[in-house]
Amino acid sequence: MTAATEFQALVLDKSDDGKVAPTIKTLPDSALPAGDVTVRVSHSTLNYKDGLVLNGLGNLVRDYPHVPGVDFAGTVEASDSPAFAPGDRVVLTGWRVGEVHWGGYSQKARVNGDWLVRLPDGLDARHAMAIGTAGFTSMLAVMALEAHGITPDSGPVLVTGATGGVGSVAVAILARLGYTVEAVTGKADSDAYLKDLGASVIVPRSDFAEPVTRPLLKERWAGCVDAVGGQMLANILPQMKYRGAVAAVGLAGGNKLETTVVPFLLRGISLLGIDSVMAPKAEREAAWARLVTDLPLDRLDAMIQDVGLADLPELGKQILKGGVTGRVVVDVDR
Ligand code: NDP
Repeated sequence: MTAATEFQALVLDKSDDGKVAPTIKTLPDSALPAGDVTVRVSHSTLNYKDGLVLNGLGNLVRDYPHVPGVDFAGTVEASDSPAFAPGDRVVLTGWRVGEVHWGGYSQKARVNGDWLVRLPDGLDARHAMAIGTAGFTSMLAVMALEAHGITPDSGPVLVTGATGGVGSVAVAILARLGYTVEAVTGKADSDAYLKDLGASVIVPRSDFAEPVTRPLLKERWAGCVDAVGGQMLANILPQMKYRGAVAAVGLAGGNKLETTVVPFLLRGISLLGIDSVMAPKAEREAAWARLVTDLPLDRLDAMIQDVGLADLPELGKQILKGGVTGRVVVDVDR
C-alpha cells in the first residue's frame, strides 16, 4: 500500500487577540515537523494536559499553528532510525509531544525515534491509548510503591482522583495485584464504576476538605497513588502507616502542599515523585510490559469512551472541570 501524501489533523491556531481555536484541516506530508520516524497514527487519547493545550492554557505550547495530542499509537510508515522499520507497531507518551512538538491528534506524526516504544504483544493501539500517559503513569506509580517495599500485606492503598484517568487505571492495577484499594472520589454516583474496577472502599472527597490541624492522625494506608495534590495530599500524609509511601502523580486539586515534616520523621513515611514525561526508555519498556500482564483488559474496556477528532474541543473543556470519567480513546480516522 502506498502511503497517502496528505493527512487530517486537529490544528490549533492563535489569533492576534490571543485566542486559541481548533479546526480539523487536511495538511500535506511536507507540513510535518522534522524527525527520523513517520508514524501513521491510528489512535490518541485525552489527558488533563491535553485539556490545557486545547484551551490555550498553561503556556505549554510555544508555536502556533500547533497539533495537540500528548500520546499516540500507530504503525511506522517511514524510518531513518535503525531501531524502527515500516510496519512496526509503536506507542509514544511524553517527551513534550503535543506541547513543544506536534502530537497525536492527527493521522500522521513525525518524531524522534528515541521517543517511541514498541507496542508489546498482546496490546493493540486502541487499548494502548486507553492506557495512554495516564495509565502509563499509574503503572510507574505502582512500580515505585513496589520498589519501596509496599506489598498487599502492608495494608490498604489509597487512590485519589479515582474516577479520572490516572486514578481509574491505578485502581484496576492495584486490585489485580491483590492490594486492598480505597478510592477517593468527588463524584457521588461512581461507586459501582469504582467497585467494578476493583475498589474495596469508596472514600468521599469531602473527608479531605478541612485544613489539617494535627501533624499525625490515626494510621490508615500503607501506600497511596495521589493524582490530586494540594489539601488532599496534606490530609493524607498524617494518616499514612509507619514506613508507608505516597506516589505523588498529579495536582488536579492544587499544586501547593502545606504540611509538616513530622510524619516523615516519626513514621518514616516517603513521598515518591512520579514523572512520566522524561522517564528513561528502559523504565518505559518495563512499564508497558507490566501493563499487559497487570491491567485486566475487561476492566480497561469498562473505562473507554471512543471519540473522534471533532469531539476533542468539548471534551478538552470537560476534563479541566474534572468532568471526564475513565479514559477517552480518539480514533483519528473516525
Ligand atoms: P483527570 O481529569 O482524568 O482526573 C483527575 C481526577 O481528580 C478527576 O476525575 C477527579 O476525580 C479528581 N479531581 C478533579 N478536580 C479535583 C479537585 N479540585 N479536588 C479533588 N479532586 C479533584 O486527569 P488525569 O487522571 O489524566 O490526571 C490527573 C493528574 O495527574 C493531573 O494533575 C495531571 O496533570 C497529572 N498527571 C501527571 C503525570 C506525571 O507524569 N506526573 C502524568 C499524567 C497526569 P474524582 O471525581 O473521582 O474525585
